[in-house]
Amino acid sequence: MIGRRVITALFTSEPMATLAVPVLHAIQCTDIMIAKLLLPHAMYRAMLAHARAQYPNEACGLLRGKHGRVTGFLPAKNVSPTPRTDFEVDAESLLRALRWEDERSELIAIFHSHPTSPAYPSLVDAARAFYPDSVYLILSLLQPDEPQLKGYFLRPEAIFKDHQAEILRRDIPFQQVRPDVWGYHLDPSIDLESLPSLTTAKGADFYLVYDHPVGPIRLIHIQPVDILLQL
Ligand SMILES: [Zn+2]
Repeated sequence: MIGRRVITALFTSEPMATLAVPVLHAIQCTDIMIAKLLLPHAMYRAMLAHARAQYPNEACGLLRGKHGRVTGFLPAKNVSPTPRTDFEVDAESLLRALRWEDERSELIAIFHSHPTSPAYPSLVDAARAFYPDSVYLILSLLQPDEPQLKGYFLRPEAIFKDHQAEILRRDIPFQQVRPDVWGYHLDPSIDLESLPSLTTAKGADFYLVYDHPVGPIRLIHIQPVDILLQL
């Protein structure tokens, strides 16, 4: 069964001398249950073959299923203008996946490969993750003879606007990775002392992303999902 972890991110104003300093002060993970995805081995092999056939581009595809169990894999076309470093599923495949809803299954997972990087969501993956209830499956071919498949939920947990976003942009060394994508990855090992607006983000793993220089900032939580291969 697929569970979820709840993060609460609060942005408050705490007085400091005469200034009110907004602080992203509470990111607490309250574990509900471990997320799992049951994946038939034949579909894993199909994804691996698709990833290898598309190399050195990223391959992508959509998986249907229900109750945490995958029942079908639809290889898709990667129509991104920069297919070596990201992916965009073609419209026809997305339309087919929409029809799964009528057939009593759902878009249970979205697959893509990383030809030369680890099986971990990139900043662009997080910025373009618009399916919070689907598992993002990433197959790394970094070591061609030892492909690695991992799964994650990429979920928006908070949005910071206006003054709050300004404070974050002031304190956090955001990186621009595309003309319209800025972001920052925080992993649990980062020393938060140097980032006053992220004071007690204990043990959380997330991206902060935005797509306009003065637009809102989204906090995308990265939650690993266990992949259980089945015959
Ligand atoms: Zn990716």
